[in-house]
Amino acid sequence: MDQGRTAVRTLNIAVLAGDGIGPEVMAAALRVLNHLQARETDLRLNFQAVSVGAEEYLRSGTPLPESALRACATADAILLGAMGLPHVRWPNGRELTPQIDLREHFQLFRGERPVFLYHAADCPLKQISAGEIDFIVLRESTEGLFAARHQTVVPDADIVEDVLRVTRSGSERLFHAAFELARKRRRLVTLVDKANVLPSMVRFRELFDEVARQYPDIATERIYVDAAALFLIRRPQSFDVLVTENMFGDILSDLAAALVGGMGMAPSADIGPDVAVFQPCHGTAPDIAGRGIANPIAMILSAAMMLEWLGTESCQRAAAQIRQAITRVLSDPASRTPDLGGTLSTAEITEIILHAL
Ligand code: ATP
Repeated sequence: MDQGRTAVRTLNIAVLAGDGIGPEVMAAALRVLNHLQARETDLRLNFQAVSVGAEEYLRSGTPLPESALRACATADAILLGAMGLPHVRWPNGRELTPQIDLREHFQLFRGERPVFLYHAADCPLKQISAGEIDFIVLRESTEGLFAARHQTVVPDADIVEDVLRVTRSGSERLFHAAFELARKRRRLVTLVDKANVLPSMVRFRELFDEVARQYPDIATERIYVDAAALFLIRRPQSFDVLVTENMFGDILSDLAAALVGGMGMAPSADIGPDVAVFQPCHGTAPDIAGRGIANPIAMILSAAMMLEWLGTESCQRAAAQIRQAITRVLSDPASRTPDLGGTLSTAEITEIILHAL
């Protein structure tokens, strides 16, 4: 036995492919991970398929069975494709949203959505070069306006109110995460709120200011969400870490994705104290599901985020290789799926990425 080597632990990855294009982009990401695993002797990933989502609901009556929650709780990390289908709903008409249930169940408060421009041709703005757009939207993912989803829908009500929940503990942990992230980047945190109108947002800003005082080395700015929408178009280069409540983050991260090529280019991580889920920002895209043309890059970049979060040396190396391969592939404007104006299928772009690896 080689005494000089420490045993390499196998990392267990729960794979929740889900519905629509979820399984299509997941298959591409797993091909990339398996390819890396075949080369890196110290990279050992064990994939466990877990059935969740609308199809699972049709089979078993629940989109997120207890057994799936247990598999997620014991895994080292979770890879998720996309869940939900427009025609599969609860009896009260609401859409199934097991991905949001997962965030609440495991307290995945830290929704990281990196926005990076790989090639100028993918940006709808003029005169922006590759790499100039490079920021993270940090979206609170367990409370905010999404807390209202637990309220009962009263048909034909004259008045309907949704509650935007801000808690001290929920906000503090989010803001600490924002400052820690900025410390590893360009040291600027931008708070996005609506403190000129909403009392919840006044409190959100107060709590931000309290936490900011503990990070004197990090610059801060505070902007209203409407101005944020304008500035993201006018000066996206100026941002580093934007931190905001759940619904504002939901909306702004889609807007931000449009700056770098759209939903097929937007990876994300939902991170909690014990569990982390890595998934593309996009949904199940029923309009293109089954046609083999989904862009798998957001899913593959989410897998790279997972490897970075797992953090072992071999995982870090593998993540860096994925990023280099994607950069190389996207430097050729012909290597594009139809969402980016190209003609390649999911399988073809995946093959090109594997080749670049
Ligand atoms: P959700 O409500 O869960 O966000 P949605 O169906 O409203 O889901 P998405 O699935 O995110 O929205 O996508 C919106 C549109 O963007 C899709 O209809 C599809 O045309 C396109 N799209 C999303 N993801 C991809 C992808 N990976 N590749 C190509 N096109 C995509």
